[in-house]
Amino acid sequence: MSDMLNTEIMLKDIGMVYRTNDGRDVTALTGVSLDVHKGDFVSLLGPSGCGKTTLLRIIADLLQPTSGEITVAGGTSREARLSKKYGIVFQSPVLYDWRTIKKNVMLPLEIMHIPKAEREDRAMKMLELVGLTDFANHYPKQLSGGMQQRVGIARALAIQPQILLMDEPFSALDEFTKEKLHEDLLRIWAKTNKTIIFVTHNIQEAVFLSNKVCVLSPHPGRLSALIDIDLPRPRTMDIKETPEFTAYVSKVRNSFEGV
Ligand code: ADP
Ligand code: MG
Repeated sequence: MSDMLNTEIMLKDIGMVYRTNDGRDVTALTGVSLDVHKGDFVSLLGPSGCGKTTLLRIIADLLQPTSGEITVAGGTSREARLSKKYGIVFQSPVLYDWRTIKKNVMLPLEIMHIPKAEREDRAMKMLELVGLTDFANHYPKQLSGGMQQRVGIARALAIQPQILLMDEPFSALDEFTKEKLHEDLLRIWAKTNKTIIFVTHNIQEAVFLSNKVCVLSPHPGRLSALIDIDLPRPRTMDIKETPEFTAYVSKVRNSFEGV
């Protein structure tokens, strides 16, 4: 039996079959079982179309699986969504152009009817965490893509969720910006003790960030390997040049099936 007290997300035999408009069935996921512990940094890694986003949406209760069981933060995925147990970050942060950065971060707190002073306070703390204090009164269009993605992270964290779900949050960014955000995300993770589920198709990114990599293989989407990454922390960019890092990258790459 798994250690229930330590379990943050439990997936048991999850399957997802989409029915297309022309009546065909598409099996996006089959038999996915996974135990995510509190404080884990887990990557869902695989090529495009293997069901990563589907799985993340199931965890977020934005999609109902067609089979299997799921618990999130000790309850149903629905309860977790309603009680704001997770924050979510997408590939594009979808910020409101007419709101300042600070007001964008405050928006979910307005929806939750949190008093104004606390909203401001939390928004500023989150902007500090992502290194954007000086840009609080700027507008999204005045920020680079990497900075906009930082705003997306600050906004997701503002509701004080215990889980952070991220769907390819850095894949549209250049390598330099991405590497900086990797280090910053690890710093934020270490500081806040969140459980992070991070979707990516990039093997190096998954190995660098995670303590567990879930390898998803396509046709149909399934969990083909679960690899613990025992590299020391805190991790900095230079770790990518070590033989240990390279060995993990090879191990992960070799675990894909039928790609
Ligand atoms: P990934 O995020 O790994 O690229 P997705 O979860 O988006 O993969 O998609 C997995 C599979 O499910 C793909 O074959 C995709 O075409 C299919 N799919 C996703 N959403 C739908 C949908 N709403 N209707 C039908 N098929 C879908
Ligand atoms: Mg996707």
